[in-house]
Amino acid sequence: MMLESTAKRPRAAHAPAGLEAAELVRPTTVREALSLLEKAAQAGRAVMVLAGGTDLIVDRHLLPIDRAHRVDLVVDVTRIEQFHAIAKDGERLSFAGGVTYWDLRRERLVLEAIPMLAEMAKDVGAVQIQTRGTLAGNIASASPAADGVPALMALDANVHLASTQGSRTIPLAQFFTGYRKTVMRPDELIVRIDVRLPGSAKVSWRKVGTRQAQSISKVALASVIDVANGTIRHARFGMASVAATTHPLDHVRTYVEGRALSAIDPAEVDLALGRDIQPIDDVRSTGEYRMHVARSLVRRALASVSA
Ligand SMILES: Cc1cc2nc3c(=O)[nH]c(=O)nc-3n(C[C@H](O)[C@H](O)[C@H](O)COP(=O)(O)OP(=O)(O)OC[C@H]3O[C@@H](n4cnc5c(N)ncnc54)[C@H](O)[C@@H]3O)c2cc1C
Repeated sequence: MMLESTAKRPRAAHAPAGLEAAELVRPTTVREALSLLEKAAQAGRAVMVLAGGTDLIVDRHLLPIDRAHRVDLVVDVTRIEQFHAIAKDGERLSFAGGVTYWDLRRERLVLEAIPMLAEMAKDVGAVQIQTRGTLAGNIASASPAADGVPALMALDANVHLASTQGSRTIPLAQFFTGYRKTVMRPDELIVRIDVRLPGSAKVSWRKVGTRQAQSISKVALASVIDVANGTIRHARFGMASVAATTHPLDHVRTYVEGRALSAIDPAEVDLALGRDIQPIDDVRSTGEYRMHVARSLVRRALASVSA
């Protein structure tokens, strides 16, 4: 289907910038989608993968028209049947490339094994965004303020990429290379994301924003902390909105792992956190306030396993 061309008249108010003459295709299998991406790349056509459109279309509407590169082909992946599966595989839970926040809120496997993911999903925008927005889109957009990414990072997520050349699996913590930059190539699709089932570990999620709903985080923290005999065996974190990419707080993790709860010194935790992040001022908050909230969220997460 060709979107209506606006070449001879001013861009219609509803036409996202750069998409006026784009061809829209709706593959129903991953193989078909990958083949379309490959052919577009070979033909030198500018291609865009479209899932829920809650980042892409909004960004395109906000872009000044002269800064929006022209797109020749839009590959809408929402009709791919295999893209909605959520499945348990041994010690891991996997989400196909089109799983939405609403799927997370309703799926029994998620509610039973990792309710934190449903809690996080409830904090994303409002229901309209949750029914369209996908985890894969959240990851691919690579916003440091994304909510899905820190939750997945704390669960040791892997991102499975596929192209006609083959597949590769990237740990989520290595997926981002800078502000809104990832290792993904234009001919690749995120076909699956898998996470470690937390078992008996304490899992928590806390998002701090301006409001309870429809709010981008000032800081958000997901944590998975496993304690045995009073000692932290395993700790994973994902913190949003404090750095150019979602942060795994490796210094905090290294300090607490293997340490008895009774030996954890809050001042040392703060020092480790200061080595991990140096948040900046922006339109949503100040760096100072973010640091204050980040300290408090980490303390709360650690206190929750001490209780
Ligand atoms: C009103 C509003 C409120 C919002 N609130 C929040 C919020 O509270 N928290 C939050 O984290 N986000 C929020 N968002 C942002 C957005 O909803 C999420 O980032 C969402 O997860 C994006 O997913 P999508 O399916 O809509 O992606 P799209 O917009 O379709 O695509 C985003 C990017 O991902 C790529 N992509 C999508 N699927 C794939 C795939 N399978 N393989 C490869 N690349 C892919 C696209 O090419 C594009 O680059 C909000 C957006 C709006 C408009």
